[in-house]
Amino acid sequence: MDFLEPRYIPMNRRRRIYEGKAKILYEGPEPGTLIQHFKDDATAFNNKKHQIVDGKGVLNNRISEYVFMHLNAMGIPTHFIRRLNMREQLIREVEIVPLEIVVRNVAAGSLSQRLGIEEGTVLPRSIIEFYYKSDELGDPMVSEEHITAFGWATPQEIDDMMALAIRVNDFLSGLFLGVGIRLVDFKMECGRLWEGDMMRIVVADEISPDSCRLWDIASNEKLDKDRFRRDMGGLVEAYQEVARRLGILVDNEPPANGGPRLVQ
Ligand code: UDP
Repeated sequence: MDFLEPRYIPMNRRRRIYEGKAKILYEGPEPGTLIQHFKDDATAFNNKKHQIVDGKGVLNNRISEYVFMHLNAMGIPTHFIRRLNMREQLIREVEIVPLEIVVRNVAAGSLSQRLGIEEGTVLPRSIIEFYYKSDELGDPMVSEEHITAFGWATPQEIDDMMALAIRVNDFLSGLFLGVGIRLVDFKMECGRLWEGDMMRIVVADEISPDSCRLWDIASNEKLDKDRFRRDMGGLVEAYQEVARRLGILVDNEPPANGGPRLVQ
């Protein structure tokens, strides 16, 4: 099927630009484009925990495509162009801002641990946090002061990223609420997209159950990567459930021959 793709470039002839924990970036078919490839690797606790989860990359590719397509359609700028195949999407090349932007609606994870707020407590308002992307340092939380003092982003870029984060949070909260899922928190990344002399901040990377906390509204069941972090099992089934509710998967059958059934 991949070979029917008009711009298919055989794997072995592609130049690999970058390999991360869950994704690989290859040179794209045109200047200014890249191919983002979703692997099946699941990692947590700064790579101390690592496992291959069959089918995860395929699901994240589809779920992230769905989210980014809708963001684009709403006029929220992203790096996403289109999905190429089961594991890959064509994206615009951006300069990644070395920050993870976390938006929280409900207390969980590190916020609960750090501040002693019980998981599940609805926050008085959505909270935006910044973490400096550094595996060596374990992605420390940083303030706007650190970000501007060390030149990771300008005050204007911080404003732009916060405005994008609020819009993405509003969209995602509504999207998931509509399918019976509470968006507890999520992480996003931004990039600088150059168009001639003009630069603008766009949403980059991925938005998937790897980077969101998603709880079933009725049962509070976790439908996200916490199932892996907390050894709960059923990771692929949970991601399939998210995809099924979003209308991406036809049904919720167990994967046959190593992959879920997908609508083309
Ligand atoms: N997150 C992520 N990548 C990271 C750290 C966090 O995608 O490197 C996401 C995580 O899935 C959750 C949100 O950001 O949806 C907030 O994570 P938190 O700070 O609570 O950290 P954790 O409990 O994952 O250590």
